[in-house]
Amino acid sequence: MIPRSQLLIVGARIATMADAGLGVIEDAALRVEAGKIVWIGASSKVDDRWRAHADQLIEADGALLTPGLIDCHTHLVFAGHRADEFEARLLGQSYAQIAATGGGIKRSVRDTRAASEQALYEASVGRARALLADGVTTIEIKSGYGLELATERRMLRVARRIGAELGVCVRTSFLGAHTTAPEFAADSDAYIDAVIAMLAPLADEGLIDAVDGYGEHLAFSPPQLTRLFTAARALGLPLRLHADQLSDQYGAALAARFDALSADHLEYANDEGLAAMARAGTVAVLLPGAYYALKETQPPPIARMRALGVRMAVASDVNPGTSPLLSLRLALNMACVLFGLSPTEALRGGTVHAAQALGLAARKGQLSVGMDADLVLWRAQTPAELCYWIGGTLAARVFAGGRELQLAA
Ligand SMILES: [Zn+2]
Repeated sequence: MIPRSQLLIVGARIATMADAGLGVIEDAALRVEAGKIVWIGASSKVDDRWRAHADQLIEADGALLTPGLIDCHTHLVFAGHRADEFEARLLGQSYAQIAATGGGIKRSVRDTRAASEQALYEASVGRARALLADGVTTIEIKSGYGLELATERRMLRVARRIGAELGVCVRTSFLGAHTTAPEFAADSDAYIDAVIAMLAPLADEGLIDAVDGYGEHLAFSPPQLTRLFTAARALGLPLRLHADQLSDQYGAALAARFDALSADHLEYANDEGLAAMARAGTVAVLLPGAYYALKETQPPPIARMRALGVRMAVASDVNPGTSPLLSLRLALNMACVLFGLSPTEALRGGTVHAAQALGLAARKGQLSVGMDADLVLWRAQTPAELCYWIGGTLAARVFAGGRELQLAA
């Protein structure tokens, strides 16, 4: 009995991301059944009868094949944009001036609250498509521009719909604790109570894969985040945290103390916090897009992360204010150029470590038997090219669960 393949790819240079490096297998083949990888090995070992029994057969001619990229930190569901603020800043206006006239995140909250679910979907799905077109097959999407239950729910529902309609994996993070809602003025303690009250209804509706928070002196303090995380953990929800982006708020240590999946940004994280992250297995998600757009000068402590054994992921951080970046591959390039990651570190950061940051390591981020058949065939021969080329679209064919995505924008 010859097994029927959904997909058989032969003659590829496969970077499996297995073990500690890129796990490259030359002239390799990969067979898929029912959305999973069932065989991977040398093309010379491919049984001729497999070819005859493949629904889709691809001769890769030496092209590079990798796991689908995983964008593990985005805010891509929102209405409107803030290109005029970008322009104003270039003309010399400060963030404070822009915020004082109703701009900044408050404006995205206003625009998102005013958008219907359909309008929000239409505004956002193109951003997801842009990521997929250059090799992304899993996207994390946060709420956090509603700051009240109805709009937070609408954002999370739109995120789910994007995954369903594009045929890719979407993981949601509830980021009610993004900033204090305008209705609460300066009473951020009362607002955290309101965020905690949103957890159960949204979790009951299956809309929360993880709970996120913004730890910063302009946002929420460690005691406030501790209350939120304690409530989230009581509901069995995984955690993550925007930590130590603009100042050291002991966010890395807080995330580790709660066994968070990830702590993200980390430009100002201290050594004890990083050591605690390494012990807890909390992934450091690096976001060079925001660092670039804000013209920050302190990069995250990469050398300390390496020395302490903190796993590093890289993400786009797509958002309307600080990282209007629609390419994970460009984020990988920035992680190399601005933060000094090696291409191997950056690529592991967009695959295997990103999967860990989303709690998906058992299914995604590597190519091995039993893993999801999320695959990208590239217009490239070597893995380093994926970090080297700036711009353009290198992904030739993208598969999610063994099904080829239609990438026409
Ligand atoms: Zn973010």
